[in-house]
Amino acid sequence: MTKSINHLHKMILVAEPNEHHRVQIESIFSEYGFDRVYSVADGIRLKAVLKKFQKKFESIGLIILSYDLPNCNIVDLCGALADEHTELKVPVIVLTNHIDADDPNLKKLADLRPQGVTLVEKPIRAQDFMPLVYLALVLKSERDAAHQLQERALTELAEHKILEARLKYLVLHDELTGVGNRRSLEQTLQLAIHHCQTYKQSGALLYLDIDRFNVINDIEGHDVGDRLLAELVGLIRSILRGKVNIARIGADEFCIFLPNARKDEAHHTAELIRKEVEDSFKFATPNDFYHVTVSIGIALLTPSLNIHHPSELIAKAHQACYIAKKHGRNLVNLYNSKDIAATHFNDVQWVPLLRDALKFDRFFLTFQPVIRIADGVISHYEVLLRMRDESGKVYTPDIFIPVAERMGLIHNIDMWVIEHAVDFLASLSPKQEHVTLTINLSGFAFQNHQLFPFLQEKIKSAWISPKRLIFEITETATIANFEQTRGMIAKLRSLGCGFALDDFGSGFSSFEYLKNFPVDFIKIDGQFILNLLNDETDQVLVKAMVEIAHKLGKQVIAEFIETPQVLSIVKTLGVDYAQGFLLGQPEEKLLDQTILSLVKYLPENSTNLQIFNP
Ligand code: C2E
Ligand code: MG
Ligand code: MG
Repeated sequence: MTKSINHLHKMILVAEPNEHHRVQIESIFSEYGFDRVYSVADGIRLKAVLKKFQKKFESIGLIILSYDLPNCNIVDLCGALADEHTELKVPVIVLTNHIDADDPNLKKLADLRPQGVTLVEKPIRAQDFMPLVYLALVLKSERDAAHQLQERALTELAEHKILEARLKYLVLHDELTGVGNRRSLEQTLQLAIHHCQTYKQSGALLYLDIDRFNVINDIEGHDVGDRLLAELVGLIRSILRGKVNIARIGADEFCIFLPNARKDEAHHTAELIRKEVEDSFKFATPNDFYHVTVSIGIALLTPSLNIHHPSELIAKAHQACYIAKKHGRNLVNLYNSKDIAATHFNDVQWVPLLRDALKFDRFFLTFQPVIRIADGVISHYEVLLRMRDESGKVYTPDIFIPVAERMGLIHNIDMWVIEHAVDFLASLSPKQEHVTLTINLSGFAFQNHQLFPFLQEKIKSAWISPKRLIFEITETATIANFEQTRGMIAKLRSLGCGFALDDFGSGFSSFEYLKNFPVDFIKIDGQFILNLLNDETDQVLVKAMVEIAHKLGKQVIAEFIETPQVLSIVKTLGVDYAQGFLLGQPEEKLLDQTILSLVKYLPENSTNLQIFNP
């Protein structure tokens, strides 16, 4: 039998009162390379050693026990050591002077042989003794290995069970907030739709979206954003006193199903949530205090409606919520098919109108001034496109640009605007040579390979300075196609044109983008400006955007300036340029800068205005 390194390192405990025998045993082990032999001479000492090894019993490979060991009940000890049910099972070799067949104790020990107890008659001789030692050690190793395997299997099984339970939970719940997820919502709605069709039971679905959640998430980090979501769920639960069927179906979007609720009750509940969040949900972070609001859309489930699938009801509530956001946020809005028709009008119907507008020049440009706040001088004008239909009705780009983008007509429109804007500059009198225009480009402009050569040619033939053109593209469009848009901006700038990032803050993916983006201006989304006077959160955000933009060497424009108070606040917050109805509407003619007596709106000492965290 070969010696195994593994065995050699196992501890061998020898309990032998006879010194001569003890030395003999030790020397045999030593001769065979066993270096971890520990000897004791009586039962009390043996018990003390075993106790010491209680926690690492697996390191004892074998115990050699003398049948004559004083202060020890050998039969009980062997019984305990060989017990199949203890983890401590250790093989034992019992040394006797002679094996007396009538000795009842020896008989009991012999019966323990299958459990690993071996009887050996003295004197011991290495050649007989060592094979028994090896056998005992091999059996012990195998038993240990089997035991370990079994243990591992048990742990794996336990882990598997936990995982399974977790998966079962996750199938229907949102991990972060503990409320239901989209799947559980669909199950609830499926049942509700069935009840509605069969028993005429109505209900209402609320679609709740946190206003500007992305902004908080981005400034404060995702952990803080997660905490906000969890706290908001807690508040909603307390408002609805636990009887909630709530599910999280998007990052900051929740659906609440109200069984049996009719229009008035649904509206009342939604309004209650909106108002409670507005009044009592103050979200504190180590840096700031955020005033959080929510927009809620309502879709009713009534027997007269032809709804068959949960997604149809969710889509309606979502659209209603979208309209609430569009109308200024912090609002409750009931689904109305007419609203939707007005926003998601029929694309196909629009295509011939847009084609005709291009063909018969039914588009026209309007210009809105952008004022340098420091001295009230018009810095440049934003070109805003309009379309007139056959009857003379004028449409704003919010209505037709999205259709043009979807229907593949946007490139032609972008080029139409560039052409007419450059022609307009060229037509100005020498006195107006300083006039600069900003032109909005669609988010798809980077796909238009004709755009750059077209612009280059146009600038050359019109004899205008490229510095008089600044292009704008929205932040959301930029981020969606980061690399391509960046390439396009670099090209336009290489011509000498300027660049502005429009509606900044609305996408708000990250300030990181801004760092790597070669723009001259950022235009803060008007939604942050409209309520600046009373909205503490907006003030904090605008301040942060200005600081970061300035650190990165970019200038800041605030759009939607409608009142002198807001103009004064943006000035205090360090914004460089202002644009809005207060300073000039978009008009077909350039607003004469002499009629702008801005200075009165910009008191030197504007601190008498209420500003939070200025
Ligand atoms: P935008 O570039 O952010 O333009 C600002 C919008 O805010 C304009 O709407 C303007 O009329 C409006 N506005 C200006 N001052 C105020 C104010 O004080 N209060 C409020 N509530 N609104 C104000 P408009 O002209 O309807 O344009 C909407 C969007 O359509 C623009 O947003 C821009 O993204 C896009 N757009 C406009 N012209 C063009 C164009 O020539 N080409 C392309 N591709 N897109 C365009
Ligand atoms: Mg713009
Ligand atoms: Mg804008």
